[in-house]
Amino acid sequence: MLRTAVETVHFKNDLRRLTLVIGVALTCFGVLLLAVVAFAGWSANRTAEMRERQLVENALNQSVSRVLNEAKAIAWWDEAVLNVQAARLDIDWLQNNIGAYFNETYGHDEIYVVNGDNQPIYANVGGEFQPAPGQAYARQRDVLDQVVREARGSRDSRLHIRDGAFTSDQARYDHLLGAGEAGWSGHIFSVDGAPAVVAAIAIVPSVDASVLVGEPHLMVSIVRIDAAFMADVGRTLLTPDLTVAARCAGGGFTCQQFLADDGAPVGQFTWTPKRPGQSLLIFILPLLALGVFGVGLLTAIILGRLKRASLKLADSERSAIHEAKHDPLSGLPNRCHFIEKLQEDLDRLVQTRDNSRAVVAYIDVDRFKDINDTLGHHAGDTLIMTMTARLKQAIGQEDFLARFGGDEFAVLRRASSLEDAVELADRLRGAFAEGFDLHSQELRITATIGVVIAPDHGGSPHELMRHADIALYQGKAQGRDRTIVFSAEMAVEVEQRREIELDLQAAIERGELALHYQPLVSCSDHRIRGLEALLRWRHPDKGDIPPGVFVSIAEEAGLMPALGAYVLARAFAEAKAWPELEIAINLSPVQFRHVDLLGMLRRLIAEHDVDPSRFVLEVTEGVLMESSDRNLQTLEAVRGLGFKVALDDFGTGYSSLRYLCDTRFDKIKIDRAFVSNVHERKRAMTIIQAVVTLGRGLGMAIVAEGVETEAEASIMRLVGATELQGYYFSPAVPAEEVAALVRAFNTDSQPNMQAANSDARALARS
Ligand code: C2E
Ligand code: CA
Ligand code: CA
Repeated sequence: MLRTAVETVHFKNDLRRLTLVIGVALTCFGVLLLAVVAFAGWSANRTAEMRERQLVENALNQSVSRVLNEAKAIAWWDEAVLNVQAARLDIDWLQNNIGAYFNETYGHDEIYVVNGDNQPIYANVGGEFQPAPGQAYARQRDVLDQVVREARGSRDSRLHIRDGAFTSDQARYDHLLGAGEAGWSGHIFSVDGAPAVVAAIAIVPSVDASVLVGEPHLMVSIVRIDAAFMADVGRTLLTPDLTVAARCAGGGFTCQQFLADDGAPVGQFTWTPKRPGQSLLIFILPLLALGVFGVGLLTAIILGRLKRASLKLADSERSAIHEAKHDPLSGLPNRCHFIEKLQEDLDRLVQTRDNSRAVVAYIDVDRFKDINDTLGHHAGDTLIMTMTARLKQAIGQEDFLARFGGDEFAVLRRASSLEDAVELADRLRGAFAEGFDLHSQELRITATIGVVIAPDHGGSPHELMRHADIALYQGKAQGRDRTIVFSAEMAVEVEQRREIELDLQAAIERGELALHYQPLVSCSDHRIRGLEALLRWRHPDKGDIPPGVFVSIAEEAGLMPALGAYVLARAFAEAKAWPELEIAINLSPVQFRHVDLLGMLRRLIAEHDVDPSRFVLEVTEGVLMESSDRNLQTLEAVRGLGFKVALDDFGTGYSSLRYLCDTRFDKIKIDRAFVSNVHERKRAMTIIQAVVTLGRGLGMAIVAEGVETEAEASIMRLVGATELQGYYFSPAVPAEEVAALVRAFNTDSQPNMQAANSDARALARS
């Protein structure tokens, strides 16, 4: 029990640990999965955004290069060189080919031409020719000077380089002069608080180098980065809502600070970013979270069920183990469990090799079957429970009590000496000392105990239990209600009894058994009035076996019903030869218990056509004691059939005079233990006298058994016995000798009686 409880705790801990591990693993996995997907979405968005930022930046660079490319088309031209160097400027030419041209064709907002001394000689603002180019130039001088300086060859390292693409493009020029001779610069600056491309490029000849005199003139453009400009850029980038604004619009737009090339902030680019990771974040991630949650929930449910089912399984396994090892009625360990425990103890004995011993007390409740049969199984069960409680109380704490089913119990005790065994047996018998209260009826119940000691009486549970059984058997044979410690001789004796048991079965079948008849002599006329039928068995090898031996074996082995039927049939048949005599037949208590006695008697009466009133059926006190109204009713019914009934061996059992009052007997047979030497025992005489008086008062005949001497016969006659039986008159004789015996006895007159008697005595002695 303890072990299984500990196992359950372990099992529960294991289960808890397993659930925890699965739970943690699943949570980690779920969180990781969500994190990975979230990161993938976020990272896709970020990469896309960074790429878009890069693209915007590239597009701006491209637009600077574009402005330079646009300017280049006019600036690197022989005619342009000639025109800007002319002493008298042709304003129309300048308007048509530079100012208006760039404004209208390419959307340049401001166009200037500066001479070799960096003085503006021409200006066009918003497509309008400016008659005072110096004034116009001065408005934007701080940014214009910067590109002019660079175009003259002094690069300002603090400025961010924008015109890289244009510069690398010019490396291709081999034949055209411009690329080799010209200087240029393109930047984005803050112009009037808004970003603008500011570019300067030298006006140089493309074919004839000689047309250039001195420092080349420069053409300078300002192109404002306004909504239209950004829309253009946005279109090429497939980002139509790309704009530049003073501050960040927010609300799903990406903002990027727009820094001029000198580092001054000039506003914010805003655009709706392409977010390739968005579907992951908006759709897949929640779905996945839901999925993870679902899986978690499902796992939790499955684990919960699994846990419950496992616990239930463990529970039922535990109770199955318990059931397999325990007796359901008493709750005590069963035989199987007891044997296991005994084996454990024997193993311990082998290991310790000291003086320790193990004692097994095998308990059998006497005549428990009768209680079950007569009072019902329910009463039997109640009794078993009471006995269990008492035995539990009687034993020591270390003792191991088991029920083997039915009315058998066993106790195992670790002991060191025979005294321990005896002490245990005493305690167990003590449990039966008081009567048992059953349905407000006080029952006196006894038990027989067989005791074995290990290792003295056996080394295996099987051997020990077999020997305990033999001791028990011996105890029952000796009259029950006792403790018997096993001894080696018992085994031999039991073996012999077993042999007899086997032989007896064959003997009944082969008809080896015969009836002898012992006369009962009337005290009134000294004549033989009746005969008692007594079984005789002449064994082919073992010789005569006394009924005192084999009848009890037959009773124990369940052979009594067959044997009893045989005796009745035989006596009925043989009795026909002596119609004037009363025939006494012994009935075993077993015949009351296990046989439909009445049915059998009726059948035999019919079969043999006999008069029941000629027969006396002898029963012992046992029949009355064991019972039970049922036996009394049977007895009454037997009388009802016409048979006479005698109480046999009176005085040997409990000899309760109550039996005589409660039950109607036709005869009492006083046991020979009272009759032997009665003349020397005053107490016996007094008792006999009382019984005779009582019996005769109740109208019963009194038979004195075992009369062996003239003295005993005289006294019995004197106290008032009605019939005498014993070797003094004759032992039991074979059926064929009965007629001669009766004739000799009854026809002989009184004087001849001595002779007949001495013949009988001689016969008895033989
Ligand atoms: P029981 O019924 O008390 O039978 C009387 C026993 O006393 C017989 O022994 C008989 O031979 C013996 N006896 C008779 N006179 C004397 C005497 O003067 N001195 C001594 N010492 N003994 C005397 P038996 O035949 O050996 O039978 C023993 C017991 O076996 C019977 O005792 C009876 O209980 C049982 N038995 C015998 N035959 C049957 C039977 O057919 N059926 C049953 N159920 N039991 C039987
Ligand atoms: Ca008898
Ligand atoms: Ca008797």
